[in-house]
Amino acid sequence: MLELFINEIVKTYKKGAVKALDKFTMKLTPGVYGLLGPNGAGKSTLMNIITDNLSADSGEVLYNGENIKKLGRDYRSVLGYMPQQQGLYDDFTLNRFLWYMAALKGVKKKDAKEKITALLETVNLTSSAHKKLGSFSGGMKQRALIAQALLNDPKILILDEPTAGLDPKERIRIRNFVSEIAEDKIVLISTHVVSDVEFIAKEIILIKSGRLLAHGGCDKLTGDIENKVFKIKIKSEELKKVQEQYRVSNLYHEGGEIVARIVSDTAPDGYSFELLKPTLEDLYLYNFE
Ligand code: ADP
Ligand code: MG
Repeated sequence: MLELFINEIVKTYKKGAVKALDKFTMKLTPGVYGLLGPNGAGKSTLMNIITDNLSADSGEVLYNGENIKKLGRDYRSVLGYMPQQQGLYDDFTLNRFLWYMAALKGVKKKDAKEKITALLETVNLTSSAHKKLGSFSGGMKQRALIAQALLNDPKILILDEPTAGLDPKERIRIRNFVSEIAEDKIVLISTHVVSDVEFIAKEIILIKSGRLLAHGGCDKLTGDIENKVFKIKIKSEELKKVQEQYRVSNLYHEGGEIVARIVSDTAPDGYSFELLKPTLEDLYLYNFE
């Protein structure tokens, strides 16, 4: 069995003035979970609590039914974590960085050698092993950080915005890579970019102001806004009004008119419209804009 149960986690900062997590509850089993929410939603806080780098005010995290606080080292040994803040070791070569991290994680020397060789292949950085991290591109740095998170063969892999600051090609590479390594693991990956997780996640978890808004497969979630996504044609002078009145998820020009994709609880008044099949991006807009 492999299960992580996040139970009624409350976390405040500034002596209770900021509520980062508000009774957040969620059960995770093997597969990829996309933790989706805007900046400040509580994603990093949740990840820091799951990885036991931060203590909750109340609530608990159970790994296979046991409190992670009680498991201590036993829990850390099954954990891989890529934090959002890049603690950069710019003067380290990639190879040295991985050896250093392996030592910190208590990986045996003999195992470390094999593991590092294999991981460099997996993240496609073998030819850069002896270059300094300071010379790496954003995408290479992110891959190096993912590699360190995998050194101990974690059963639980926590990736905090692994695609932040990457160009589309690098995003795709990371995405494919995550989906490749996810087998038999619980993988939790945070992002505010829908396309990062839309097609690889078994479940999407929507988090807003520290609360679990919704979770489930993409189809189930978009089903919640069935009949709320409309296509309308407008004149350019109407654009401002439409944008004030509705959540507009897409706009394009067509034959002198503007076609707007809008997300709305009610059918747009005064326009002829066409119903569209909702996407996760529409849902994101519906909940977060
Ligand atoms: P996310 O990762 O989704 O952007 P965070 O977990 O970083 O969200 O932040 C959640 C909330 O907690 C935000 O309002 C943020 O400003 C606040 N917060 C996070 N870390 C701290 C901290 N160390 N001290 C005070 N407030 C914090
Ligand atoms: Mg964050």
